[in-house]
This record gives sequence, C-alpha cells and structure tokens, in this order.
Amino acid sequence: MEKNYYVCTGCGMLCDDIEVESEKNIVNKVYTACRIGVAHMKDGKESAVFRVDNKPVDEATAIKEAAAILKNAKNPLIFGLGTCSDETQKLAIELARKTSATLDDTSSYCLGKVIEALLNNKFKACTLDDVRNKADVSIFWGADPSDSHPRHLSKHSYFPRGTEKQRGWEEERTAIAIDVRKSHTAKICGNYFFQIPPGGDKEFIDALIAALAGKLPKTSYNFPPKRILELANILKGAKFGVIFVGLGLIYSLEDLEPLIRLMNALNEKSNFHLIPMVGNYNMRGFNEKLFEETGYVNSVKFENGTVKHGPEYSIVESLKAKTVDAALIIGSDPLSSLPRSISKNLLEIPTVVIDPCETLISKKAKVYINTAISGVESGGSATRMDGVKVEFKPAVETKRPSDEAVLKKLMEAL
Ligand code: SF4
Repeated sequence: MEKNYYVCTGCGMLCDDIEVESEKNIVNKVYTACRIGVAHMKDGKESAVFRVDNKPVDEATAIKEAAAILKNAKNPLIFGLGTCSDETQKLAIELARKTSATLDDTSSYCLGKVIEALLNNKFKACTLDDVRNKADVSIFWGADPSDSHPRHLSKHSYFPRGTEKQRGWEEERTAIAIDVRKSHTAKICGNYFFQIPPGGDKEFIDALIAALAGKLPKTSYNFPPKRILELANILKGAKFGVIFVGLGLIYSLEDLEPLIRLMNALNEKSNFHLIPMVGNYNMRGFNEKLFEETGYVNSVKFENGTVKHGPEYSIVESLKAKTVDAALIIGSDPLSSLPRSISKNLLEIPTVVIDPCETLISKKAKVYINTAISGVESGGSATRMDGVKVEFKPAVETKRPSDEAVLKKLMEAL
C-alpha cells in the first residue's frame, strides 16, 4: 500500500515523514511526529468562525470590516506571519506596501539578527541533513530542543546513523550543552554540560576563544577553567561541527560580535557551522522574503514607494511609542508573547486578527477571521530553520478559508 507522508508545521524543523490516518476530515492517528506534532496535526476543526465586535458575522462582512480598518489607518501595523506559508507571506508584504504599513514579525525580538547575519554570509551555514550525515560535534547553546523541537536529536543532531556517521552517538558524535540550567537536552549531554550564570555567555565565549589559542582562561564559573581547555580541544578536533543557537544565547549578548569572533576562531582550527533554533515553522521564510525585497529581515515601514528600517519600526517600539493606529495580526499573539506594559497598547487601536486558533488577542480583536491550519488543512511551501525549502499539502479538508485566500480577498477589498 502506498504511504502518504505529510509535513508537520508544528515547529521550524518541518519534519516531512509524518503519516496520518483521518476519517471525515478529522485526523485520528498521527505516526512519527513528536508530542507537539501530534497535538498540532489533530488540532483541525471543520467549521469557520468570523466575528466583528465579538459578534458572529459571515466571511464577506468580516473582510469588508477588516478592509475598512486598514483603509482608515494612517500607519497600520502588520505583524506575525511566522506560522504562515510562503504564499501568504508574499501577499502580506504586498499588502504592507499597498497600505503604507509598518511590517514586523517575532524575529525582531528573537532570532532575526542571526538570520540576517546568515543571509549576509557572516556565519558558515549547513543543513540539518548535513548534520545528520556528517556532524561529529553538536553544541546546543541556550537551546533545549528536547523540549522545543523534540525530534531534533533523534532525527538530525545526535542519535541517527548518518551516511558518514554509521556508528552514531555511541562512538562518533559528541553533544555539548551550554545553558543556564540543566535542561532535558543538557542531561543527554552528560559531562559535556557547561552551566553558566544568566548573562554569562560572553564570558564563556571569550574563555573559549582563549582556550582555542592554547591559553588557560580566567573565568568566574563554578567549574575549573581546565574544563574549557578540554572543550576547546574537542572543538579543535571536530571534522564537522555545528552550533545550534537558541534564544538563551541571543538574549544574553548585546550584539553578535562575540559569536562571530568565536565562529571565526573555531574555523581557523576546524570546521564549524551555525543553525538558528527557529521556533515558528516559517519565520525564516518571512525573513528571507523580506530580505530579498528590502534588504532587511524585519522592522520595516513602507511609505510612498520607499522602505524605512530601524528598531522604531519593530512591534515593541511602535507599540511603546504608539506610532501605529491599527493592527493586522496574522498567526501570532502579541498579548501572550510580549510584556503586558507594551502589548496593552494594542487594545487601544482597532485590530484585525487572522488566525487558526482562538488566542488572547483574537478575543479582543475588532475583527476575527478563523483560518485553516497550514500544513494540516491547507497547503503551500515554507523555509525550514536551516534554509531548506519544503512543500506541504493538507492532510484534511476544512470549511475554514486559508490565510492566503483571506489576504487575497482583503487585497481586493482595499
Ligand atoms: S519536531 Fe517539530 S516539525 Fe517535527 S514532528 Fe515535532 S513539532 Fe513537528
């Protein structure tokens, strides 16, 4: 019997080997996926919900009201898009141009600068498939994929047999964790776990660079500096190393200069690559598209055919300064991800929410349009955390429109 494989859009790994069993457009069984993926694939619902002022309306009324909000705004904010397909993201960028909007995504307060640096070739990149086939040293830095991307270690970075790593983790792979707490991933790394204090990442980088140069580093950590020398020796001997960069590392550094220095130092001695631990399944896709069009990965403002860029056009700063007068939030919930002192300003402006899920912001929105879950109920394409393009098809049908279809109608209504 021919098997049908689906792509899981539950996280930035976009696992493409998922089997599902469904009946009457309900997913009953999911094979191969992790616990996050199983819950995600089973999350579909058949009926659609459209609301204006928290009252049920039909789709046409919701679109008309959403278009009126965008038309009347002088500087609307379009935000989200990390959980949308490439096709939807392209339309959103077009919509932002058409409405002279401020456009931003979650990367402006997470991994955006790492992706921008990768696109500017400041780090050596590789794919997850390269990692599976070739990597002998993986460093999880400020990242805990065992919780955030549960198949990461089993599918790519530690446990699998790869074409050039047939003897696997027992003999041929070393996993190292650098983190402020003993995470699930750190436990797997055993003696190769280095616990550092919050904000202690730059000191660790400097110590590691000194150790790579053969010097015994001075550190304030509660483990002997000799351990960093031993780590440096392992890294120097790596044939194919990779650093998986998580939010813990990025939030601790003021800028990427220390990380760039470390990668350069490592690549003088061995062969090290970097992959950002992207959470939302297509955040990298959004960053790449916007970069191609504008030269920036996030935080832009379109105006009279020009594009401006800067932190003042990020969601955080534009809400703080109250420079935006309406918002279109697509597949994201700033009320649950940003501090209340900032996100509460969203409640003072008319907001349109397009999302497959009811969220805190969907309940407060002037207009709510409930869409299909991409990858489960609608198809498209996306960019994996390592930059690989992935196509996906729906596993079941739904009466809910795709976010792509909604944005097309919204463009027409403007
Ligand atoms: S690791 Fe991510 S993409 Fe893979 S099955 Fe789990 S949630 Fe889905």
